[in-house]
Amino acid sequence: MLASRSSDSHRTVVRLANGATFGGTELAICAGPCSVESEAQIAATAEAVARAGGNVLRGGAFKPRTSPYAFQGLGPEGLTLLEAAARANGLAILTEVLDPRDVETVAARADMLQIGARNMQNFALLREVGVARKPVLLKRGFAATVDEWLMAAEYLLLEGNPHVVLCERGIRSFDPATRNVLDLTVVPLLRARTHLPVIVDPSHGTGVAALVAPMTLAAVAAGADGVLIEVHPEPERAASDGAQSLTPAAFDALVARLAPLAEAVGRTLPVARARV
Ligand code: PEP
Ligand code: MN
Repeated sequence: MLASRSSDSHRTVVRLANGATFGGTELAICAGPCSVESEAQIAATAEAVARAGGNVLRGGAFKPRTSPYAFQGLGPEGLTLLEAAARANGLAILTEVLDPRDVETVAARADMLQIGARNMQNFALLREVGVARKPVLLKRGFAATVDEWLMAAEYLLLEGNPHVVLCERGIRSFDPATRNVLDLTVVPLLRARTHLPVIVDPSHGTGVAALVAPMTLAAVAAGADGVLIEVHPEPERAASDGAQSLTPAAFDALVARLAPLAEAVGRTLPVARARV
């Protein structure tokens, strides 16, 4: 298996154009709104993410919504807004691609492609993103086993794309107290099974803004190579996932709390924050 770990020292490091790395000593701090909604919203968010010390701007232009009546994203217009906001702040661009027919368009604008939980086993999409050879963030399906997740990664690797990062984003359980159950056990478990970097998304993992900071700290303590956090300038007005989105101030406070913890586990924060 291409995803398997073959030796103790064998580790993949995925590097983006702005220097952000996944799997090295430095953590990847990916943040941004669930959906790109307007120029003002994404510009304000990008500025806040960069100021706090994030290095990857994540925003959805093509949204996989459970209901076909819910906001579906701004599409290509959203990509344009995302690109401008990211470039103005030195951030790399991470955005979801939903449809194999859109891979070329999204890959031309983004630094990293997200394959969402609902598409983890969309094999046609996996193959197409594999061929595109762009860095890819493969989220865990909400009912996917670790073996199924690694097999999905295998589709990408087999097409010749070595730049694969795994993202734990919570799995479904019987308990409606949180949106999902964030399975942090997979962080050390995957470290033993695969050379691929692993990051954690505590926003979808909990669905509750107040739980995002403690679970971010726990993810890094467990050995995650980075985090993916939803940030919105006005969470109460967000078009999607407002309940789990942090304000810029809360995100800034979280990154500040992360610094000593990262150091304690032998990791560093992106250079931007270190310079502040
Ligand atoms: C998202 O990142 O906004 C998203 C839709 O995530 P997931 O695929 O993990 O549900
Ligand atoms: Mn979301």
